[in-house]
Amino acid sequence: VANVSHELKTPLASIKGFVETLKDGALEETDNARRFLGIIEKHANRLDNLINDLLNLSKIESRETPLELKKIELMPLMRKITANLEDRIREKNHLLDLRVEPEDLELVADEPLLDQALTNLLDNAIKYTPAGGRLSISAREGNGRIELAVTDTGIGIPEQDLPRIFERFYRVDKARSREMGGTGLGLAIVKHIMLVHGGEARVESRAGLGSTFTLSFPSKFV
Ligand code: ADP
Repeated sequence: VANVSHELKTPLASIKGFVETLKDGALEETDNARRFLGIIEKHANRLDNLINDLLNLSKIESRETPLELKKIELMPLMRKITANLEDRIREKNHLLDLRVEPEDLELVADEPLLDQALTNLLDNAIKYTPAGGRLSISAREGNGRIELAVTDTGIGIPEQDLPRIFERFYRVDKARSREMGGTGLGLAIVKHIMLVHGGEARVESRAGLGSTFTLSFPSKFV
């Protein structure tokens, strides 16, 4: 509760501050007024994203809605996810490799949740990789498990942060995460999606070199 309150208070304090400044006279200075409204809008959007992610996480965690398990063809799902993020991948000049082996690989899972987990990982890969990076999203079967992985050649995660990276609101660099519109809940959501599927999320990363996030599903779902 203390963490959430703090996360909510930060954008709210900015909103209140800029409203105060406008009331104190900045409203009459058209250019400034416009700029301040832009900042207020940005913080209001942050609050909105934060609350949406909190509600999402709470829904998954409380197991309020039962999983809707069905057989999912991975190639079409991964194509759809990458297509949804295509504009941002192009904007940053990243190269993306998509690999599913065998090509007709299927997985039993809750499709909207699996979509969300992979989208969160690919979204992070795009965000935390400087322009012109290499990203890959892949699925393969082996040792009775199905493993989906998202890899990037981005900024990576220092070793001392790795054990805590899936905790809610844990960020390596709070300022950078906020600047990029992050809520600090993306990986906590991924972790809980994997837990309700009886699987696990792992990360391997080297600071400055890049990261690989893996979603590993148990054989009973194969
Ligand atoms: P955020 O909204 O801050 O991106 P996440 O829960 O998705 O929240 O991620 C938590 C933190 O983990 C990020 O703030 C960032 O420090 C780190 N992180 C996540 N994905 C990556 C990645 N692909 N490369 C480097 N750092 C990452």
